[in-house]
Amino acid sequence: MNVVVTGGAGFIGSHLVDRLLADGHAVTVLDNLSTGRAANLAAHLGHPRLRFLRGSILDATLVDAVMSGTDVVYHLAAAVGVGHVVKDPLWTAVTNAHGTEIVLEHARARGARVVFASTSEIYGTSDALPYREDGPRVLGPTWIHRWSYSTAKALGEHLCFAHAERGLAVSIVRYFNTYGPRMDPAGYGSVVARFVSQALDGAPLTVHGDGAQARCFTFVSETVDATVRAGTLDAAIGQVFNVGSPFHSTIGDLARLIIELTGSGSTVTHIDHAAVYGEGFADTRTRVPDVSKIAARLGWQPTIPLREGLARVIAERRASEAR
Ligand code: UDP
Repeated sequence: MNVVVTGGAGFIGSHLVDRLLADGHAVTVLDNLSTGRAANLAAHLGHPRLRFLRGSILDATLVDAVMSGTDVVYHLAAAVGVGHVVKDPLWTAVTNAHGTEIVLEHARARGARVVFASTSEIYGTSDALPYREDGPRVLGPTWIHRWSYSTAKALGEHLCFAHAERGLAVSIVRYFNTYGPRMDPAGYGSVVARFVSQALDGAPLTVHGDGAQARCFTFVSETVDATVRAGTLDAAIGQVFNVGSPFHSTIGDLARLIIELTGSGSTVTHIDHAAVYGEGFADTRTRVPDVSKIAARLGWQPTIPLREGLARVIAERRASEAR
């Protein structure tokens, strides 16, 4: 198949490209390298089935040209990471809402199928755990920038369903805290990458707040596998799926596990959320997906334990430092 990955030089995007090339597809990456890195695709330099285009999803002419002859578009390009979002809310809102509209419009015009990468941030601070795809969304006020990410992604989802009514074959995946090799310590899924860097440097691990907040960390190859299923199986069309491990870990436990696995002499230090993200920031306490829908419809079930996935991240980080 001819496949396009927007954001294909990003953390999850580049792992998706690995998988699609291994499956034999011809892959075009569209990435403006704002948070993505060309180095993430270095292993495929000169690959005959990989085309890399440095450009923006806001460039409608380019996007239209890219969609021509495309079978499936994996739309991962976005302004991601809570830290980036609170620093540059305008860029986040425009890229995630308007950029998505451009991708969907031209994919539909060219008859391509689409997978839209959405987020567990959609659920906000809802306490209706575990989060079901049809569950409530609980967001704070519009002047708290962090909510613009959730809102822009939700608008993206609304646009998906609106285009579906006009014939677009589209599926939505809501990612929950993906981690793995190539994570950018300053970018998406930053907590694992930051803690691993801090532990390997012998620096204190910076736990925000009391560390009792919990997340479900999902190894990137499993996130990618769910994404490919969403882009290929008929049962995925017109549907939205949570993609995440159903097992949660507190941030404090994560810090202690990373110290143990690295054998680091690092300590743990606690920092107020407000000092990091600004006053009025509302952190999500516990975020757990209900994955019964994706298990039943797409046969997806994550199996890699956190301890094993973290060991792989640490090994990769050590190997890249040794190079
Ligand atoms: N976090 C932390 N220390 C860090 C980075 C993040 O304690 O150096 C916390 C953050 O406040 C949140 C959790 O780890 O409670 C997950 O943060 P991340 O940015 O990885 O993803 P989020 O779930 O917020 O989208």
